[in-house]
Amino acid sequence: MRYEGAVYRPPSEARSLIIQTTIGCSHNQCTFCYMYKEKKFRVRKMEAILADLQDVKAQYGDITNNFFLADGNALCLGTDKLITILKTIKTLFPSSGRIGIYAAPKDILNKTPEDLSLLKANGIEIAYLGIESGSDKVLKDVNKGVTQQEMVEAGQKLKASGIKLSTMVISGLGGSADWELHAEESAKVVNAIQPDYLALLTLLTPEGTPLYDSIQNGTFKLLDPTDVLVETRRMLEKIELNDCVFRSNHVSNYLSLAGHFPEDKPKLLDAIDHSLGDQRHLRDEWMRQL
Ligand code: SF4
Repeated sequence: MRYEGAVYRPPSEARSLIIQTTIGCSHNQCTFCYMYKEKKFRVRKMEAILADLQDVKAQYGDITNNFFLADGNALCLGTDKLITILKTIKTLFPSSGRIGIYAAPKDILNKTPEDLSLLKANGIEIAYLGIESGSDKVLKDVNKGVTQQEMVEAGQKLKASGIKLSTMVISGLGGSADWELHAEESAKVVNAIQPDYLALLTLLTPEGTPLYDSIQNGTFKLLDPTDVLVETRRMLEKIELNDCVFRSNHVSNYLSLAGHFPEDKPKLLDAIDHSLGDQRHLRDEWMRQL
């Protein structure tokens, strides 16, 4: 398997074989994102992708049951190309199980419901959508390239296809100026989408990102750990999900939380309240990572 540059995948795809179908992210302009800055976006040649899969089969046999299509927004690939890749996976690895993919909101909106159903029928089981924030202002400030309405439409469309939807929101993305807006509008978007999985990460701002520069020049003020807990509490208070696995136990988070909505909501709020009173369980700043 030949990879170009750093390759990223969601934590839940740790055991999956990552297949780099595109290089980088076709948007690549979010002010907080460092992941694909060194890459110029392009679609990989189909022969190279298929050759990689054949090499893995020849060298390692049935190395894994799970596969993940990267880079940043692999769903931007044409549906016919994606189906060729999915069929090759099924042919070479007949016992293959879950196939996941990164999906940006615009890519979902660019697919027809029939495209999404075809992708599901050919093996896509789960798609990962970075909501980041539900607030129009915050989405605009971080240059996400979509509105709240488009985010909701994308999430609902994906859900309607039957593909499992895993979403991600970033704590602290509104900074101290917009934390309330970020918390409340993110809850609103999540409620409208009703994802199968919701992950809450906490903002980290590596050097080299535009957001890092905004922090340095004082135009963006980061939340401190207490502020993040208060914001998370507000968001969870407003979240009404019927059947959703919730995780906020990423290494970027100050407080590790995990549960299932709706039944664990009181327990999650209690855990935050406890930590607001006693912060000994919070992850130290130096231990937080992306
Ligand atoms: S956050 Fe997602 S859409 Fe934005 S630049 Fe990074 S990979 Fe691309």
